Amino acid sequence: MPFATACCGIELMATACSRFDLARFGAEVMRFSPRQSDLLIVAGRVSVKTLPVLQRIYMQMAEPKWVISMGACASTGGVFDTYAVVQGVDQFIPVDVYVPGCPPRPEMLIEGIMAIQRMIDGENIPRDPQGKRLPLNIAVAPNYEPRPMPVPVTVGAS
Ligand code: SF4
Repeated sequence: MPFATACCGIELMATACSRFDLARFGAEVMRFSPRQSDLLIVAGRVSVKTLPVLQRIYMQMAEPKWVISMGACASTGGVFDTYAVVQGVDQFIPVDVYVPGCPPRPEMLIEGIMAIQRMIDGENIPRDPQGKRLPLNIAVAPNYEPRPMPVPVTVGAS
């Protein structure tokens, strides 16, 4: 279930396209109904006004369900440190995997999906004493170094 609200959504679309081909990992079927989805990918910043929609979609998904927070904005608010933008969706819905970057490359999103697949394969799913599933809390490590600016940037008069 894609919840793509901003530029990270373009990388999410690229992940499903032929160059990166999410189908190789058995996760290419996107559904736009929460009742047919088991993985929610929050890609992009979430405004306070949009938050109830996100929460409702999460509530409507059937168990077992998983959540990936894709990109700096979804995980922390990113550069949008304002009253109108949620400063991390994990304050309102449980997040299993954090994919860093602005935007994350498709390989990193695939790594995040594979992290959930590995946990399910190994049946290493954390639970509380009552048997309720706990968020996985996996942070994917960045897989590239940001390149330096090609031209030095100066601020103000030189
Ligand atoms: S993390 Fe960067 S690329 Fe993703 S939604 Fe925010 S500003 Fe856009």
